[in-house]
Amino acid sequence: REPGSGDNGPAPGDEIEALAKRHLLQPWESLEHLGQSARTVLDRAENIYLYDSEGNKLIDAPAGMWCVQVGYGCREIAEAMANQAMQLAYNSPWYTTSGPAAELAARIADKTPGDLNHIFFTTGGSTAVDSALRFVQFYNNYLGRPEKKLILSRQSAYHGSTYLSASCSGKERDKVFLDFAGNLVHHLSSPLVYRRPDGMTEAQFCDFLIAEMESTILEKGADKIAAFIAEPILASGGVVVPPEGYHKRTLELCRKHEILYIADEVVTAFGRLGHWFASEEVFGITPDIITFAKGITSGYVPLGGMAVSQKVMAEVSGSDAKGAVYSNGYTYSGHPVSCAAAMANMDVIEKEGILEHVRDITPYFQDKLAELDALALVGDVRGAGLVGCVDCVADRKAKNPLKLDSEVGGRIDAHCQEKGLIVRPVYNMCVMSPPLVIRERQIDTMVGILRAGIEDTMVDLEREGLW
Ligand code: PMP
Repeated sequence: REPGSGDNGPAPGDEIEALAKRHLLQPWESLEHLGQSARTVLDRAENIYLYDSEGNKLIDAPAGMWCVQVGYGCREIAEAMANQAMQLAYNSPWYTTSGPAAELAARIADKTPGDLNHIFFTTGGSTAVDSALRFVQFYNNYLGRPEKKLILSRQSAYHGSTYLSASCSGKERDKVFLDFAGNLVHHLSSPLVYRRPDGMTEAQFCDFLIAEMESTILEKGADKIAAFIAEPILASGGVVVPPEGYHKRTLELCRKHEILYIADEVVTAFGRLGHWFASEEVFGITPDIITFAKGITSGYVPLGGMAVSQKVMAEVSGSDAKGAVYSNGYTYSGHPVSCAAAMANMDVIEKEGILEHVRDITPYFQDKLAELDALALVGDVRGAGLVGCVDCVADRKAKNPLKLDSEVGGRIDAHCQEKGLIVRPVYNMCVMSPPLVIRERQIDTMVGILRAGIEDTMVDLEREGLW
């Protein structure tokens, strides 16, 4: 099909754009430009490539929103969904269950660390985090300590867009116009090594973060703190890889003070770091609860969930738990079509050796990205597995150029899109988290275009006197 041709096909790109401008309230929309801003209209996708409505081919560097693990056009997943839709399109999770939900739960339990064997399905990452937080509330209320409510989170974390998950997020910009359950959350410092206080080594920075967490616990009272929620790598906060030892030491503090540890693996699970889950295999910890979403279906259909440890579950269930109800669920909890997609996705990941591939190709990807550190606009390049971030600064010493704040990522993305690459701009950063099936040659092209996009942006900034 020629893009935009034929009366029976989808509307041509400019018609779609016009309809979107008139009627679509886009997520995270800038209302100053409501009805004006044009987002790239996509038409189809294959492997790691997106095709826009004009037929332009773009490498999808962020894999959608860090989710399209096996790449686009995976027939096995599409067929599994179609077959399941014909066999049993839906079942009520209120009073029935289905083969795909039960089998997927068993399969996930087999992959989670330790005894995290109770799986609760949700509709995505935000509802997974919300369910985990509400489970923690249920847990403490049930155990007769309703004052143990506070959640420890971190600055620049992102945990979702529902009221409670958003309250745990630490991005200041998201908090300007919306209310949050501020009384329920306390934000600790972001473990961003690059912007650690002057004069500290990485090890000293880790000590500083642990000391801050411990003094917060002592100050607020361990009997008031219910949980610590942490992305193993803070993803949309700018690919923050905490200092060596941080994960183990935060878990130790939680154990010492009877605080539940929720690892938000919405981005890091299902292969992004070369393992089904990163908590144990990459960072050596077994949390109490893990939340997941995104990569579980490679983004083909929405699904999320949480895994709760048997130990925690045992404390609030069984013959003593008369009348106790974890009163939380969704019409689409354990949706059979989503679960069938997830099973097919896991089959593909196994059959094609995608976890091994990620582990093999990670050094190549990280080394290539690191070459961009030589550019004068780039202050830091960081990452792990198949996720990386280029952090731009005006002055490599000062690290934080106010004049350029919030703009540079978008400028680079605009240049890259002209050359065949979509990057994910976050303030002054560009995030790369490609589909996990990416090959070396494709990484070369991706990083080559990113380099050109940064160079073009440097020329623009100089011309406009901004740099
Ligand atoms: N947690 C993390 C770590 C995330 O990155 C995201 C989404 N970017 C979420 C939760 C929320 O997931 P969703 O958008 O599927 O609701």
